[in-house]
Order: sequence, then structure tokens, then C-alpha cells
Amino acid sequence: MAPDSARSEIVTETRTALVGLSRDALAEAFRAVDEKPFRAKQVWHWIYHRGATEFSAMTTLSKDLRAKLEKHFVVGRPAIDRVQTSTDKTRKWLMQFDDGQKAETVFIPDDDRGTVCISSQVGCTLTCRYCHTGTQRLVRNLTAGEIVGQFMVARDSYGEWPTPTDERRMLSNIVMMGMGEPLYNFDNVATALKIVMADDGIALGKRRITLSTSGVVPEIRRCGAELGVNLAISLHAPDDDTRSVIMPINKKYPLKELIQACRDYPGASNARRITFEYVMLKGMNDTPAHARALIKLTKDIPCKFNLIPFNPWPGTPYECSDAATVERFAQVLWDAGFSAPIRTPRGRDILAACGQLKTDSERLSAKEQRLKDAQEAEAAQAAWAEKEAAI
Ligand code: SAH
Ligand code: SF4
Repeated sequence: MAPDSARSEIVTETRTALVGLSRDALAEAFRAVDEKPFRAKQVWHWIYHRGATEFSAMTTLSKDLRAKLEKHFVVGRPAIDRVQTSTDKTRKWLMQFDDGQKAETVFIPDDDRGTVCISSQVGCTLTCRYCHTGTQRLVRNLTAGEIVGQFMVARDSYGEWPTPTDERRMLSNIVMMGMGEPLYNFDNVATALKIVMADDGIALGKRRITLSTSGVVPEIRRCGAELGVNLAISLHAPDDDTRSVIMPINKKYPLKELIQACRDYPGASNARRITFEYVMLKGMNDTPAHARALIKLTKDIPCKFNLIPFNPWPGTPYECSDAATVERFAQVLWDAGFSAPIRTPRGRDILAACGQLKTDSERLSAKEQRLKDAQEAEAAQAAWAEKEAAI
């Protein structure tokens, strides 16, 4: 018979991570270990309001209960593989998840607020030609826990626990604009954002969250109905011919359908406009004629533009439009009454700016995966045999 200590070490690997469980799933996990739903509520508060990473810190729970929870659950946070801080104070984390896969998270501080840019996938299935992430194949979707965990790591890093009132928040906004296409991982993104929005936890309102998509039309509708967060569309061209060259997804969901989904987006109003992101690519999409076509395309949608100077990355086929061209383009939009700020690139020196994120995580071929599985199984057996011998 194995002594408890030896057993518990092995059992540790099978404990359930609580971060990322929806409120109902958390209550269910507690029920499964014969604990009442109100305990789940208390733990939710500790995790998402107070930022506790250990059950031992949850001092409103009895010692026995803390020990029991410790046996069945872990709070769970992504590990930090590397942190870099730019000369402009932008900070980038390379997060490592339990299976060793990695994704990047960026914090962009401003005077009176700060935005955390979160990844939704390791790699991306789409291959937008201007985007560094697009050169990395999709490895996998991130789980809800890994998505909300990125924000929690950022809060740990600035010590922003317990959840401050809105006026005093440094990490005040979230943009789903990191690696990956959030609408191709909608269920996990939705679970994570519902956790982030819950009042008795992180409590970040839907107006402070923006989801950016390359234009996955059916999921835009779900996003509006289920989350109601701000919507940003990577538009980047006013016509199908140009857009299909730089964004292959346009062949599946052409502009007509995309624009209709924007028109239908719930809550879109002058007070709450859709953002059209527009990356300025030299000689590709940056003439005054393109700007005029954009105005025509979006004329009946409450919207604003965000003009993004193209951020280069190693091996890119494009260059950024020169400053005068960007100004001229913006002027056409301004003259037509649109808000169209030219975004100042942040964190370029640490490759943390829009479209520069990429990790060296690679999807294994089926053969490599089988080999890895076999090696892991062998290592686990060896570890177990060693423990057994010590018993
Ligand atoms: N997959 C989503 C969100 C991630 S990309 C999407 O495509 O919208 C976040 C933003 O960065 C998008 O607007 C994208 O078009 C933009 N972007 C990608 N590569 C860029 C680059 N090299 N320079 C500037 N912006 C870029
Ligand atoms: Fe994927 Fe967005 Fe990059 Fe396109 S721009 S490849 S959708 S992450």
C-alpha cells in the first residue's frame, strides 16, 4: 500500500484547474466533492476579486476545507517564460501553458488607463499576408483558463489585486487582438470573457472589452448576441479584389456579407461605434481613392477607423506607407466626418506591436506526436516504477 505522501504527488497532476471554469462549472466541481455551491462562490471571490493563487491564502475558509480543496483542485495560472519591457513601457509576456505551448500577451500603458492585449490561439489558421502570427500554423486553441489566465498574470505583475474600482484601474481595458482569431475559438473566448465581466470578480464591463476579428461572419452574430462587447473588424481594404489578396478569409466571407454583419451588430450606435482597423500597406491599399471607397462602403454604419502603420517583421513582403501618404489618407476620412486616428505603434522594439506576435510553438506531425506520447507514457511509467520501488 502506498503511503499518502507518495500517492498525493501523483494525484497532483490530475487535480482540476479552477481558473477558466464558468460559474456553473465551478459549482458543479464543488458538488462533485460534496461541497455546497456557496463555497464555490466564496472561492470565486478569492480567485477573481482577491487574486489568490493558493488555497492557503483563502482565510475565510476553514483549514480543513482549504486542505480538502488543495487535494482536489489547483487555482492555475500560465507560467511566465519571458517578460520584456519596451522603452515606451509596453510590456510583453511569453506565457507557457501546461503542455509547453506558448503565446504572447501585451500590456500597453497610457496616462490614465492601460490595455491588455490577449491571445486566443497558439498560431492561427488564417494567413493574412501582413501578419507575423499568420506565418505560424495553428497549434491549438487556448482554453478559457489560459485566456483569462493571461489577464490575471498581467494583474499579478502590477499587483492590481484586489479588483480596484474602475477609476483607479491601471489594467482598465482588454483587447482580443493578440495571437489567433478569437472567433475561431468562440466558446472558450466567450467563457473567459464572461468570467472577466462578472461583477463579483474581475468586473471589467463589456464596454471596456474589444474583440477584433478578421471577419468570421457567422460568429460575429454570436458575439453580438452572447457577449455584446465592442467589435473591431480588420478591414484593411475597401474592395474584394484587394482584400482577398491580403486576407484569404475574404474569399469565404466577402465584404458584402461582412458589412451586413456589422450593420446588424447589436448595440452599434453613434455612442458605441464599430472600429474598422486599417493597416497602411505601401502601394496596396493606401491611396485617396481607397479612402473614398471606404467611406462609400461604410456609409450607413456607426463606425470609426483606426489607421495602423504597418509593423514590419522578419521576412515580411510589405512595407509601411510613408507618413505623408498616411496623413493624406486620414485627411480624406476626416473631411468626411469620420474619426480616424493614426495609431502610434507601441512596443516595436520588443516585437510587441500589432501583428508582430509569434512564438516558436509548432504543431507536431502525427508521427512526432505519437513519438512524444510514447515517450511521455514511458517517462510516466518509469516515474511510477521508481515510486513503487520506494514504497
Ligand atoms: N485575428 C484577429 C485579432 C488579432 S490581429 C484579427 O485579425 O483581427 C490584431 C490586429 O493587428 C488586427 O487588426 C490585424 O489586422 C493587425 N495587424 C496584423 N498584422 C499587422 C502588422 N504587421 N502591422 C500592423 N497591424 C497588424
Ligand atoms: Fe490570424 Fe488575425 Fe493574424 Fe490574420 S491578422 S493571421 S486572423 S492573427
